[in-house]
Amino acid sequence: MKCKAYVCSDICCYKRMYIVFADNLKEAKIMLTRVKGCETVDFDISREAQLDKYCNKPIPAQILIRTGWFGICPECCNNVYIDGKSTAIYKGSKAYCGYCGEELVVSEDIVLRKTPLKKL
Ligand SMILES: [Zn+2]
Repeated sequence: MKCKAYVCSDICCYKRMYIVFADNLKEAKIMLTRVKGCETVDFDISREAQLDKYCNKPIPAQILIRTGWFGICPECCNNVYIDGKSTAIYKGSKAYCGYCGEELVVSEDIVLRKTPLKKL
């Protein structure tokens, strides 16, 4: 079955983002409520069809930023957006922080999958 990608922002009191792969919106909400420490049921969820194909594989940071969602640099903790202010630098298929040059990767910590990816 083809799963669908949803992006959820402003969950709980943290400015955090989750990417949820689920069969439908209802299931995505259920998965979000299971996130540890989450007490709210008021989610801001958007469907993001461009990410559907990453249901069973890691999401490249560049793809995530290019679809308009921000990432957080693991090195300097700056928010990285596609906003024309070069907060992210693209080289080939990779993306780098525009502040410190660190390579940006999408942490599986923010990705909710029904079946977790196998560690490579
Ligand atoms: Zn950085």
